[in-house]
Order: sequence, then C-alpha cells, then structure tokens
Amino acid sequence: MRVLLSCLLLTPLLVKPAAGQGWWMTEPVRWVQTNLRETDAALDPVRHAGQLADMRANVVLMGMGGICAYYPTRVAFHYPSAYLPAGRDMFGDFLREAHARHIRVVGRYDLSKTPKPAYDAHPEWFFRKADGSPVIYNGLYSTCINGGYYRGQAMKILAEGLERYDVDGLFFNMFGNQFTDYDGKPVGLCHCDACRDRYRRVSGRDIPDKPDDEYRAFMNACAREVSKEIGDLIRRMRPRAGYFNYMQDLTDGIMSESNTAVRRPLPLWPLSASDNVNRARNSEPEKMAIDLNMQFVDYWWRFATVPREEIATRMWQQLANGGALTFEVNGTLDLQDRQAYETAKPIFRWAAANEQYYAGQRSAARVLLLGDAGGREVDEASYRGVFRLLTEGHLPFAVCDNMRWLGARGFDLVVATDGAPAQLLLFACAITRSTLHCTTPTC
Ligand SMILES: [Zn+2]
Repeated sequence: MRVLLSCLLLTPLLVKPAAGQGWWMTEPVRWVQTNLRETDAALDPVRHAGQLADMRANVVLMGMGGICAYYPTRVAFHYPSAYLPAGRDMFGDFLREAHARHIRVVGRYDLSKTPKPAYDAHPEWFFRKADGSPVIYNGLYSTCINGGYYRGQAMKILAEGLERYDVDGLFFNMFGNQFTDYDGKPVGLCHCDACRDRYRRVSGRDIPDKPDDEYRAFMNACAREVSKEIGDLIRRMRPRAGYFNYMQDLTDGIMSESNTAVRRPLPLWPLSASDNVNRARNSEPEKMAIDLNMQFVDYWWRFATVPREEIATRMWQQLANGGALTFEVNGTLDLQDRQAYETAKPIFRWAAANEQYYAGQRSAARVLLLGDAGGREVDEASYRGVFRLLTEGHLPFAVCDNMRWLGARGFDLVVATDGAPAQLLLFACAITRSTLHCTTPTC
C-alpha cells in the first residue's frame, strides 16, 4: 500500500448553515423506498401509509409515473398501470394519507422506457441501435435522451404530475442512455437522428462504434441539459420540492446505492454505506446523502433479501456519517421475505426516538481522506485500506472527492493514497512558506 501522509496546520473555519435549505437538510430523514411493480397500482393507500407510520418512516420514495402511471394521467403517451382500478387515483389517495401522517412523498419517475404504442407513433423518440433496431426489454422500448420523448413529452408528463400533486420531491431512475440492458447485454450507442445530428455538430464526427472520452462527455452534457430542464420545471412549479437523480450537480441530494451483485468481484466492501455517505456529505456539504439500502441480492433475485446484518450495518453507517437513514424494498411492505423489513423497522423506530440528534449534522472531522480528487484516480485497495484503518481506529474522518475544501475547511491531517495532487502540494508549500518563513526558491 502506497500512502502519503501530509501534515497540514490549517486555520479552522466555522461553517454557517446555509439559508433557505430544503426539508432534506433541516429535518431528520428516515427514507423508505417502495419500488412498486405495475401490479401494485391497486394497493390500499391507508394500509401502505399506516405501515410506513408504524415503522416511523418520514419520507417515502414511491412509484408515480414514467413507464407506468399510478394515477389517471391524461397526457398522451403516458400510460396508467393496467392494474389501476377504474376511477381510482392510487397516488393521489396515498399522498393524502401519507401527509396526514406527516410522511413526505417523493414521486418516482422512470423516463428511460415506455410501452410499444409510443414507439409505433414516434419511433424517432427512441434509442436506435447501429443496425437501426430499437432496444426492447420485457416489451418496453428504450427512449433516447436526445429524442422528443425526453425533451418534450416528458416535460408535459411531469408538468401534469406537479400540477396535480403536492409532492415533496421527485426522483428519476435510469436517467440518460444506458450502454447495456438490465441483463447486462451491450446495446451499443444510440444512432437516432437526434444523436447523430447533435454529435456531428459538437464533434464533427459520426457516432463512434464504442464510447470514447469525447462521446462520453457528449452524452454527459446531453443528460445534464435535460436534467437542468427538469430541475427548472420542478423549482418553478413546486419550489419546496426536492429534486433527486443519480447526477450530482443540479440536484438536491447525492444519491447512491449500497447493494450487492452476484458477479461483482470479491472481496465485499462492508463499509460501502459509510463510504458513500461520508464522501457525499463532505464532498457536497450543502446536499443530503441518500444512500439507498437495497434489500435484494441482485436483479434476478429481487425478492430474496441480503442477510439481516448487511441491512443493519448499512443503516447504522448511514446514521453515523450524517446521511439519510434508508431502506428499500421491491414491491410493497407486504413482501413475503420479512427479514430485511423486520431488521429495518426497529432501527427506524430508534432513529425516530432520537431524532433530535439526527438533523442538520455536519462533519467535525479533523482528518481528511482524499478520494478521486484533483484529477487522479485512486487505487481502490489503498483507499479502502486507509478507510478501514481510520474506521477501526475510531478516528473521525472526512472523505472528499474534490479540492474545493482547500482554504475553506480546516484539517489537521490529510491522507492522500497514491500521491498527493499538485493543488495540495502547492497549498502545503504556501503554508510552510508563511509559517516557517521559507525562502526556498523552488517552492
Ligand atoms: Zn439517440
């Protein structure tokens, strides 16, 4: 393990809480995600809200629209679940029941796929493989981030939802074009007319066979454009609502997942929740860390839970690092395998009983462990080794994957595995010169 330890004496700086922060920063957050199936459109809203209240959850992330709507949508090419009983508005009924129990509701949209009728009417809205064919998964057609669905129709869909429902936030799953499907099968890059035209304008090239740096930057910029448009819409229509997706900028929370995957290389990383939350809270201290605690083993075993200890460990790590306490289930809280739910429930209740300690937290750590900051890539084994060493030594520490803390937050010790970035060395040199009156000309 190659580790560089740099001792820096910096002036501590008091950080004032930012004014006008949303509920996700000012209230304790006990966040449950019920990742609803299409069939769950008929769930009993009173029972569902009662179960959440019983475990003392105060935020629920729940299916609202996108692939299928859980309310009687009237926007073209947006389809209510076939299981939504005639005349029922499940989402609206649930929202009322949840708010009556002081539970905030974050509506979940997935705009990455739609049923076939939208494709038949507007094939130009969809991801087109190099051979011209669409990407189809379980009968659903993948949309393209540059097509008319994301850039036009989706805004109408969201405007309807935001107008009708006083949601506390919106979350977006699978944002932007994916290079593989849910089976991990490569689908290549999108060759739709919108992608080809945009990419030619930006790069002067045709869509490459494989994603290179220029293409990845292009796709990130495209996703960012749409993400900004959605964020602007939410803030205009529901100014108090939070905006969440897996992109860090433009949103109100840093989303991550603590999960397992059967094909992931060993060893397991038992401090994954600590890592995700610590990094998020200290890299972007003005945003809440929401590390979704996925109860399932892998995509193909969505209703088989990981061991109880895995669920509990992640939850305590989330609390210890100042993030939202989270728990995710596929379907509803009536899931057959009760182990994960029965593990999560008493921890939620404990957090509720002690909630005065779990709002508005900020790290007071005086030790900093640098992540991928300053443009360098960190060797995972070295980084995790130091992370574990500091954790098991009970040394409070912050993780940061940018260098914006320099000059803004004081640390007594900075640990940079794999060498220190140039910015850090220059900063240390400046400190040395001013405190020791160093006159070395090469500094
Ligand atoms: Zn495209």
